[in-house]
Amino acid sequence: MTTSDIANLDKQNYMNTFGERIPVSFSKGEGIHLYSDSGEVYTDFLAGIAVNAVGHSHPAFVKAICEQAQNLLHVSNYYYMKQQALLAEKIVSLSAADKVFFANSGAEANEGAIKLAKIYHYKKGNSQKYEIITLKNSFHGRTLATVAATGQEKFSAPYHPLTPGFLYVPANDLTAFEAAVSDKTCAVMLEMIQGESGVHPLDLDYVKSVYEICKEKDILFICDEVQTGMGRTGKLFAYEHYGIEPDIFTLAKALGGGVPIGAVCAKDFAASAFAPGDHGSTFGGNPLACAAALSVFDIFEKENLVENSRIVGEYFVEQLKALAENVPCIKEIRGKGLMIGIEFTEPIAGDMKHRLFERHYLTGATATTLRILPPLIVTKNDVDQFMKILKEIL
Ligand SMILES: *Cc1c(COP(=O)(O)O)cnc(C)c1O
Repeated sequence: MTTSDIANLDKQNYMNTFGERIPVSFSKGEGIHLYSDSGEVYTDFLAGIAVNAVGHSHPAFVKAICEQAQNLLHVSNYYYMKQQALLAEKIVSLSAADKVFFANSGAEANEGAIKLAKIYHYKKGNSQKYEIITLKNSFHGRTLATVAATGQEKFSAPYHPLTPGFLYVPANDLTAFEAAVSDKTCAVMLEMIQGESGVHPLDLDYVKSVYEICKEKDILFICDEVQTGMGRTGKLFAYEHYGIEPDIFTLAKALGGGVPIGAVCAKDFAASAFAPGDHGSTFGGNPLACAAALSVFDIFEKENLVENSRIVGEYFVEQLKALAENVPCIKEIRGKGLMIGIEFTEPIAGDMKHRLFERHYLTGATATTLRILPPLIVTKNDVDQFMKILKEIL
C-alpha cells in the first residue's frame, strides 16, 4: 500500500479528529530514524510526542516485549502479576511516591489522580472540599474530566456542561492562585513545564509558594508528569527541578516506550484513600505494558539516558540560543533537558515544522512555538546535524 492508498482509506473510514495529517506513513523505525513506506529516511525529533524515549526498535526493548508476548499478555487485575508488582516497586524506589496504580493513558492517569484527590477529602468527612485549581493554557487530556481540568476553551467548548469543580488561574501568578484558594479547594494540578501549549516552565518561586500553601491548607499537590516525566527534562521527574515532592503525580507517554500505560503515583497518606472497589481498570498494568515499562527503566539505567537527556539537552539549548542571537524572528528558546521550544516572533512554527519535514526532520508545532522532543538516546552529533538544517531553513 502506498501512503496515498492509506490516506484514502483513512479519509473514508477514520473519524476526522486529526484532519489533514502529514503526508507520510512509516513502516520501520530504528534508533532516532523512521523509514517511510516510500523508502525515505526521517529523523525523529518528536518521538511520537515524547513517547519513544529509548528510540525505535531498541533491541533490548523489543526482546522484552516479544518474550512477554510469548508468555502472557493479559489476565486482569483479579490476579497478582509479577511484572506489575516489579514496576510498581521500581517507580516507588525512584520517586516521591509510596504507592502506584496503573492506567492506560495520560488522561486516564489524570482521571485517577482527580478521583484520588476527591476521595481523600471525602473519606476525611469533607466532601465539600472538591474544587481543583489548574492553570490557564494547561493540558491534562481528552476525557470529560480532563478537558474540564484543561484550561483551554478550544478543547472544552463543545462539551458543556463540563465536569464541575475546576478553577483556572494564570501560570506564575501567586496572587491569582491565593485568590482562588478557599475552604473548598481539594487539590492543585500543575504541569511543571506546560507542554502542549508551547513548552512553558513554571517559575521556581511560584511552585515553592504554591506547594507551601498546599501543605498549610491540606490541599493536595498534583504534578501532571505525563509529558515531563521519565527523563524528558533531564531529571527522571520534572518536580525534582523544584525541590518539592508532590502528593500525587501522574505518568504516561514515555513510561511504556510506545506501549500504552499510565500511572497514578502517590504518597501513602493520599493513596490510602483508595479502598477496594473505589477505582479500577480492566487493562491497567497488564503484564505486557508493565514488561515494556520495566524494560524502559532498565535501558535508562544501562545507557544513562536521564543524564544524556540533561547533557545533550543543555548542549542543544546552548546551540539554539547562540543561533537566536543572529536570527531576529526567534523570540525565545525555552525548555529543560530534551523538552525544548523555539518561540518565533510570528505564528510561523507550523511553516517551520513543514520545512523541517521537507528536509526529513519530524518536529511539533503550536502557533508560535516549534516543539522539539527527540528520543533520549539522541547525541550531540545528531543535534549538530539538526542545527545545520535549521540554519539553512532560517
Ligand atoms: C499528552 C498529555 C496528556 C494526555 O495523555 P494521553 O495519553 O493522550 O491521554 C495529559 N497531560 C499532559 C501534560 C500531556 O502532555
